[in-house]
Amino acid sequence: MRTFSRETGEAMLLASDGKCQCSKECTKPVHDLDHIISNSKPNNKLFPLFLQSPFNCCPINRGCHDQKGRKSITLNQAKVYEEYLQRITGGDK
Ligand SMILES: [Zn+2]
Repeated sequence: MRTFSRETGEAMLLASDGKCQCSKECTKPVHDLDHIISNSKPNNKLFPLFLQSPFNCCPINRGCHDQKGRKSITLNQAKVYEEYLQRITGGDK
């Protein structure tokens, strides 16, 4: 299964100051890097660039993760982001 690159994970942890990003107010420590749009096989096919990008990466506390307290993106929004990434990078391959 694909996942975030080490660079993406480390950069997002740094950018979030080690604090859970489930909401603006949350200051709990980070345990996991959550895929906002889930890291499923069909989603990897639909969003080959977006899915493992920093835009889909949410550093999160395990307790918050379990309660599904996290950011959300709609599939239609993910499609816009994927198309944008395809456009600026010249595609997936
Ligand atoms: Zn949280």
